Amino acid sequence: MVLELKGNIRVFCRVRPVLPSDLPSTASIEEVEGEEELETMKEEMKANMAFPDKRDHKEIVLYSSSESAMGIERKEVYSFGFDRVFEPTSTQSEVFEEISQLAQSCIDGYNVCIFAYGQTGSGKSFTMEGGNSDSTAGMIPRAVEQVFRVAEEMKSKGWEYKIEGQFLEIYNETIHDLLSTSTSAEPSKKHEIKHDPKTSRTTVTDLTVVPLTSPSQVKLLLARAQKRRSVAATLMNERSSRSHSVFTLRISGVMVGTGSSSSPTEGSEVIAGTGETCEGCLNLVDLAGSERLNVSFGPGVTEKERVKETQSINKSLSALGDVIAALVDVFVAKFVKWELEDAVHFQMVLNLSPLAAHLSESLTSLRFATKVNNTQIGTAKKAAKTNS
Ligand code: ADP
Ligand code: MG
Repeated sequence: MVLELKGNIRVFCRVRPVLPSDLPSTASIEEVEGEEELETMKEEMKANMAFPDKRDHKEIVLYSSSESAMGIERKEVYSFGFDRVFEPTSTQSEVFEEISQLAQSCIDGYNVCIFAYGQTGSGKSFTMEGGNSDSTAGMIPRAVEQVFRVAEEMKSKGWEYKIEGQFLEIYNETIHDLLSTSTSAEPSKKHEIKHDPKTSRTTVTDLTVVPLTSPSQVKLLLARAQKRRSVAATLMNERSSRSHSVFTLRISGVMVGTGSSSSPTEGSEVIAGTGETCEGCLNLVDLAGSERLNVSFGPGVTEKERVKETQSINKSLSALGDVIAALVDVFVAKFVKWELEDAVHFQMVLNLSPLAAHLSESLTSLRFATKVNNTQIGTAKKAAKTNS
């Protein structure tokens, strides 16, 4: 199956549920009478949001009211449309269902980029990595599983695949290898992004590349990355809000036929190997908090760091077109630029907080995501596919 994507960058919007941790700390167990009162409290904290499109799930509406100096109430209605809007009750498997085709197309030899964008605490990492249980597993483990499933199916058609994973983090313009087994907090190696225009492959130098032989391995990798992150950071949340992480799955296939290494199934025809090769890659990107990308800095950041971060963001602004540049710092920008030039399947997931307190940040994010949604990209073409 060949999936040709032309035109706009696809954008999904996902609103997370209100969590117990969102409740004010004063709402201690004794004060809250029971389940019902808890629900009322959650309800009161919610921003006024509606999902009127019950058929296609493409719309989200936000309502705000403010009082003018004259004491007159002003009501505003903001309506946004995306390729798909996921309500707070939506599950990981529902979200993945809409993305799984992209996992399929990287097996077919395409480059795929999926970005999670949104303010800190809006559910980016939950969407991408997810929790430990099968039902809460995020897009990364699900995509890996899907790729393995498809690769297995393709075996009967004579294709043999090699699947590899890498995981990096970009923090203050420095690439950190999240799968490194080094125990030092500082990166022991300097990693650089290299692009080969001949093969249109983008690689990062000296990065740990882990051969994947089963989908369950990905859980270990995510845990290894988590451990690595905690070695490197004293302020975990601070760091995660200021860094981008990129999980890359590389898939390369060779058409060996069914007569050679893999034995043909009973009664089926033997397919001769053609030596045809096919390479694809799937990038799953968990971006820095959008409040950072919108250049607002929290407390505890020194003036020097502030200046450095602002410069880094400005650099990326000049390096790329308006929209994508605002998304990412200079390193990720390179990724996106090349991937876009090589015509990739590009998908953004905008994560939103459901809280009234975050309404203005949500509006900023929704406006930005609309811009991204209206950005034109070229027709996707397959990466290096050659007959040898
Ligand atoms: P971010 O990476 O955008 O900063 P997280 O993914 O860490 O945000 O989410 C913040 C908190 O909300 C985490 O505790 C996470 O488990 C929880 N969370 C996010 N989205 C959901 C969801 N859809 N369902 C349940 N919990 C969620
Ligand atoms: Mg996160």
